[in-house]
Amino acid sequence: MRLARYGDNRLGLVDGYVLRDITQVIERLPQYRWPLPVGDQLIAHLESLRRTIKGASEAAARIPVTELKLLSPVANPPRVIAAPINYRAHEAEAENPEIKQGNDFSSEGFATPIDKFGLFLKSPTSVVGAGEGITLGFPGRRTDFEVELAVVIGEKARNVSPEAALDSVAGYCIGLDISARGTEDRSFRKSADSYTVLGPWLVTADEIPDPDNLGLRLAVNGELRQNSNTKHMIVGVGELIARASRAFTLHPGDVLLTGTPEGVGALQSGMTIRATIDGIGAMDVKVR
Ligand code: MN
Repeated sequence: MRLARYGDNRLGLVDGYVLRDITQVIERLPQYRWPLPVGDQLIAHLESLRRTIKGASEAAARIPVTELKLLSPVANPPRVIAAPINYRAHEAEAENPEIKQGNDFSSEGFATPIDKFGLFLKSPTSVVGAGEGITLGFPGRRTDFEVELAVVIGEKARNVSPEAALDSVAGYCIGLDISARGTEDRSFRKSADSYTVLGPWLVTADEIPDPDNLGLRLAVNGELRQNSNTKHMIVGVGELIARASRAFTLHPGDVLLTGTPEGVGALQSGMTIRATIDGIGAMDVKVR
């Protein structure tokens, strides 16, 4: 299944270039009152809603996807958990002084950068969809694009093994980890409003048998800037989930950004980014 959120909080099932409006399915979610449970409740109930979604889609109107304003497919991610450096070629380019800004990005003496730096957290309020665009939040500061595979957790998970970790995944989408460069902690530089773009839709895990072998690309104004494959990740998806789940309980709707390959570069207002991941799709994102 490919699930999109669009317009004024509508829900759609994507099929090729068209979308079927299945917003009525939301009525089937439990009607919670304060205090709300942790996590995204649509993601938490996705598996049990499969038949309802299919039924609703059969009678639904078909709308061309290109006509829609796409929102983040995860409406209420409790957290965005991110890998700092997870491709060797990006680790090498991060030594560029304009990217490094005096930070220590070297993992010398450690098996992997994540053994040294761990994972970091971005504010969930930084999340937007492809149709909402990026608003540069640190005027005068270099701010970079980073295309990353985004993993959406589907159920509570604690201390899972790398081998079992993919069983707790609801699905995948494209992620942009927008990053102001500077000396502050990553969580501060990367958490401005709109600095996590998720989209264009959620592809459920059954359609992505091997997340550790997906081509991913990013073009700026039509010019290819990042072009790699998740097989080059230093720590794969299962191991990333396992490590996160050893630090804290994962919840439905948690988003895990898996790190960016080489080719990052500075954003300017007026640019259009096209990000693509094989098996998921492509999204166009404007920079303001
Ligand atoms: Mn990143």
